[in-house]
Amino acid sequence: MAEKKYRLRRLNNRHAPSLREETIHVVHSQAELRLYLSARACQCGGKLGTRRKYRSQLRAAKGKRVITRVIDRYVTVCRRCRDEVQFAFDISEPVTNPKASLPYVLNPTSKPSEVIDAGHWLNLAYGYFEAALEAQFEGDPTACRDLALTAAAAIEEVLKFYPEGRSLPPTSAFFTPDSLNNFQQQSQLFHRDVLRGLRDVYRQEAKKSEGQSSALDNLLSSVLD
Ligand SMILES: [Zn+2]
Repeated sequence: MAEKKYRLRRLNNRHAPSLREETIHVVHSQAELRLYLSARACQCGGKLGTRRKYRSQLRAAKGKRVITRVIDRYVTVCRRCRDEVQFAFDISEPVTNPKASLPYVLNPTSKPSEVIDAGHWLNLAYGYFEAALEAQFEGDPTACRDLALTAAAAIEEVLKFYPEGRSLPPTSAFFTPDSLNNFQQQSQLFHRDVLRGLRDVYRQEAKKSEGQSSALDNLLSSVLD
């Protein structure tokens, strides 16, 4: 996994517990951060408990330059072994990008994620689209549209790992041996054309729901008038 290492100079938040590890994951949106955290477990395999969040400003040395970054830390305790588990994220970019708060903007940059790998994004895309169909079934076209657009955005995240002109992602797009193995077993699912087709299907579904959603709004306003 690609990880940015900063030398810690100063933490402003005096109440925060001391930072155990120097690994700070760079994320591109709050959505990406939440998705990453939701997939984490303790090293013992136990589920993680409620998270406490601490925001700090950090002055980091990057070569000879000193830059100020915004760091969010999450501290939690494993429900099984009671070990404390910490995660630290560099959220400097999402804070400066207002678009990142939209539900389906997962990463407003063209850079691939450093915390969620290609296989994980593809699974998230499948999950979001399944949820979109469920929302459709339950008669909620607005939720269906948002979820289908999020699924399409997750596919875009997979495609960000592909070098120009290549139809499959490099092995570096997979951050764990399990994930790489899954890719090697089912590489046809990762073919660029397959993913683009899937993304278009998701977008079409979103468009359909968009139409239904505004038809529903019109109907409701005509009834209420
Ligand atoms: Zn544990």
